[in-house]
Order: sequence, then C-alpha cells, then structure tokens
Amino acid sequence: MIISGLILIMKKNILFLSFILLITLFAGSCKKISNKNESKEVILASFTVLADMIRNVANDDFIVRSITKPGVEVHGYQPTPSDLVKASSAFVFVDNGFGFELWAEKFVSNLKVKRITVAKDLDPVFISEDFYKGKPNPHAWISPKRGMLYVDILVDSLSELRPSKRKVFEENGKIYKDKLSKIDKEFSLFINNLNKDRRYLVSCEGAFSYLTNDYGLEEVYLWPVNAESQITPKKMAQTISIVKDKNVPSVFCESTVSNESQMVVVNETEANFGGNLFVDSLSDDSGPASSYIKMLEHNLDLIKKGLF
Ligand SMILES: [Zn+2]
Repeated sequence: MIISGLILIMKKNILFLSFILLITLFAGSCKKISNKNESKEVILASFTVLADMIRNVANDDFIVRSITKPGVEVHGYQPTPSDLVKASSAFVFVDNGFGFELWAEKFVSNLKVKRITVAKDLDPVFISEDFYKGKPNPHAWISPKRGMLYVDILVDSLSELRPSKRKVFEENGKIYKDKLSKIDKEFSLFINNLNKDRRYLVSCEGAFSYLTNDYGLEEVYLWPVNAESQITPKKMAQTISIVKDKNVPSVFCESTVSNESQMVVVNETEANFGGNLFVDSLSDDSGPASSYIKMLEHNLDLIKKGLF
C-alpha cells in the first residue's frame, strides 16, 4: 500500500512538473515569435504631454505609454482597472507632480514600479488665490523654458535607472532641446517687440503662470487652477474690467474646459475670442497639438496673432 501510494505521489509530481515544463516551453516559444516591440521595456507617463517628451528622449529603445488619453482632463482623472494592468508591465511611472495628478499617489501605491516625479527638481510658481492659494501651480511645461528643464530632468532620471542608455538619452535630449530653444527664442523676440500695454494673457484657468512669469506677460484668468473652482461674480467683473481698461485685444480658453464663461467676457468687451489653447492634454493625431512641440507652436501662434 505504502509503495503504491508513493508511486501515485511520484506520478502526480511528474505530471505537475511536465505541466510546468510545457508552460515554460510554450512561453519561450511565444517570446520567440512575439512582436519585436514586446521585448522592449515600457515607460508609463501620467499624461500625454509628458509621454511625448519621454518618447523624444527615449526614442525607439522603449515603449512609452500615457495613462490619460489625448483631450482628457487630467487633474481629477479616475484610473480604471485596465490602467493598472497597463501600469504593471512598466518599469517606471513618470508623473508631473506639483499636485497636478490628484490620483497619482493612490494609483502608484497599488504598483511595484519606480517613480520619477519631474516637479521634484523644478522651482514652482505658486498659486496666489482661492482654495489652492500657496500651492505650486502644476502647469510648468507650458513654458518652453521650463520644457527644456523637463528634458534635462528626464535625461538624468532615466539615465540613473538605465545607465547603459545614458548616451542615447543625452543625444536625443540635446536634439529635442534645440527645437524647444528655437521656440523659446522666437517667442522672447515677439514679446520684446510687443508694446508693454499689450502684454496681457487672459485665459479661463490660471494655467499660464509659468509662461507669463518667464516671458514678462501679465496673467489674467477666470479661475485659478481647474474647472472645479466656481467662477465668482467678483472674478468675472474683475476680468471684464481689466480687458476693458487695458484694451486687451483677445482672450483665450484652455482646450479641456468649456469656453462659455470666456464668451461672456467677449460679449461684454471689445475683445475677440483668440482660440483654444492646449495645456493639460495633447490633441489626437488629427488635431493641432498632437505633440508637445506642436502644442507650444499652436499656443504661441494663437497668442501672437491675438495680442499683436
Ligand atoms: Zn490644468
């Protein structure tokens, strides 16, 4: 009985081992016939703007994905179970920080990935009013000057995680920064030639603080950070009064929020509606801001046309 029992256990073990061996062989053969891309490491970004910057630094050596899709409001995004699955295959999660991704802490706590938070190495511009007063304004990438700092931070942080790729990251980063530097120089030149009385940027949410701060514009907005803040009648009256007093030629709104409130300003003043500026999210491929560079060019072109 004992011997036949032992034989049964051995048979069961052999069956189990054969099963494991089969799975291993199957997985091995799958890997061999798998698409070339699937063997690349995955970098996960919190939003499309950051993902595009990373793609330019990491080039074809990595697969770069964004949790939030083009055109989506990022601040209050609610990650889905499929986002968690997507994230689990990544070796690093890159977020902006400065309180931009309100969902990031909880999201990352469910994952075993490294994390790069770009804002940890940036100087903030603080929000000056409302509920968010004293907190850093998160939209630092909106200024090409800060965009160049993002590239430096990404090159350094990714090189620390993958030292063998440092040279690739540095070379890609340099090419990318040269493009941003060209945009920066052109916009600086435009502002320098713009009459000081016309240096007002009026938008819906206060997402342009870094741009106005870096290029010497006055920033006016209907609400400080995102659409969850209510526009007060006082704020609306203040904005209308500035636009009238300063003869501001054009006012703008961000692409991820409704421009309904800004149209009230347009109707009450002589100003034109200058168009939708992209901030938190890129457009899809058919839109005007399908990359970070295109987004900056689109925004700065609209501002130039509107304020000239
Ligand atoms: Zn925003």
